[in-house]
Amino acid sequence: MTEPVQRCGVVALAGKPNVGKSTLLNRLVGRSLSITSGRPQTTSHQLRGIRTEGAVQIIYTDTPGISLHGRHPRSRQLNQVALEALEHIDLVLFVVAALHWDEADRYALRQLRPGPWMLVINKADLVRPRSLLLPHIQELSGRLDCLEVIPVSAATGANVRHLELELTRRLPEAPHLFPDHQWTDRQEDFLIMERVREKLLRQLRLELPYQMTVQVENLRREGGLMHVDAVIWVEQSRHKAIVIGAGGRQLQKIGRAARLDLERLLSCRMMLCLRVRHRPVVASRKNAGTGEA
Ligand code: GDP
Ligand code: MG
Repeated sequence: MTEPVQRCGVVALAGKPNVGKSTLLNRLVGRSLSITSGRPQTTSHQLRGIRTEGAVQIIYTDTPGISLHGRHPRSRQLNQVALEALEHIDLVLFVVAALHWDEADRYALRQLRPGPWMLVINKADLVRPRSLLLPHIQELSGRLDCLEVIPVSAATGANVRHLELELTRRLPEAPHLFPDHQWTDRQEDFLIMERVREKLLRQLRLELPYQMTVQVENLRREGGLMHVDAVIWVEQSRHKAIVIGAGGRQLQKIGRAARLDLERLLSCRMMLCLRVRHRPVVASRKNAGTGEA
């Protein structure tokens, strides 16, 4: 029997912030890999998720959303990262939220390089009544020059399999770029740092988490147990008390939530020791506006 022809390609998820790109990447890869939150600019680093099924390998790249408010230093930096991620790709999934099509979507779309792309209408689960979805699909299909318009729900997984099949048949015939068991191009310390950052974004108020960075200082495995020491750096000393919370409860909550997710993601048990330290901003960093964490 002859081996089936291998297919392999890079698929980028693009679109304005908060439309569900990272949630969709997780769904497509089958793991909670990319961090998500209800806030814009959750994703600030490029991340690849890899899915290999038989002869087909798809490398998904999640990108920070391309923001219309590119004048803000933080947005400007993210846009650069987003644009670099889109450089070597076979296909773009341009993601929008169902029933929404506004100037911010148009702006993000204009940033795409010429090349094949599909429109993914996400959050279809939120459409009420359901009958509004079809005219919306038809309207965007008529207006945009894309290969396909596919409604999905990244949150429930509805129609994601169909999206995957449509993608697969458009991938080039090529040998796999990564070993078949590999599901991300990132190391464990990056995944840990991002997961802690996600919990900070979800549990702390307003701008606070954007002024923090997470660093993994130590990581070692002992049998099925992973020991991790990580530091949450805050820029203002008064933020330390906020992260730690009364009786240390806030920090415990953040650590526990991160640990539970990471144990599932990395298939191990984990001892996660989080510390909070204060590091004042140096002037040049402040001017550069690198608010990413
Ligand atoms: P990104 O900025 O485009 O990467 O968006 P995220 O993946 O971080 O998602 C932004 C918010 O939308 C999060 O609160 C998600 O839980 C939510 N979300 C994403 N996909 C769906 C979906 O299909 N349905 C619903 N109801 N919410 C979704
Ligand atoms: Mg994201």
